[in-house]
Amino acid sequence: MSETYHRLMACAGAADPFDAHVFACILAKGQSEAPRPLTEAVGLAGPELARLVARLFPGAQWLPADWTASSGADAIEEPDLRAMLTDNATIAGSDEAAWLAAMVARRSLQPDHLWQDLGLSMRSDLNGLLNRHFAPLAALNTQDMKWKKFFYRQMCQIEGINICKSPACDTCTDYPMCYGPEE
Ligand code: SF4
Repeated sequence: MSETYHRLMACAGAADPFDAHVFACILAKGQSEAPRPLTEAVGLAGPELARLVARLFPGAQWLPADWTASSGADAIEEPDLRAMLTDNATIAGSDEAAWLAAMVARRSLQPDHLWQDLGLSMRSDLNGLLNRHFAPLAALNTQDMKWKKFFYRQMCQIEGINICKSPACDTCTDYPMCYGPEE
């Protein structure tokens, strides 16, 4: 884990340890992409990022962020993914779920497995995050589909779009792309 992660965790104080770990991973990953602004890397505007830091990592205002900056332009699919996640928050209206929805939607645009894009230690951290904060949605992934594939499939189903080659996963030639280890 990076120095930024460890410095954030040292500020975590009374925060829930798992939530602190998850947010510290994501912020450290975003920070590692400098000179890209942290706000754009994690998909949170400066004022929201400041609220997150004040709640989970009080004293971590040393983070090199512009606390007034925007989160940058959304990719075309980002608002739908953000909305699907917030609509499936375990606790409706939770700040943590809203922050994570924005962060997951932004980080999903990166090219690796989602847990890697989020800077998490392992895939089970992502399962834990989703089961804790987006339980109704996570519970639908009964076949342990790769998370990015699962999100996009869910969004397509909501929109009534079929992007699959086969009506059933078991007989689909794209099966390895959608399932299997995310290592
Ligand atoms: S395995 Fe095939 S049918 Fe199943 S989600 Fe992937 S593309 Fe769709």
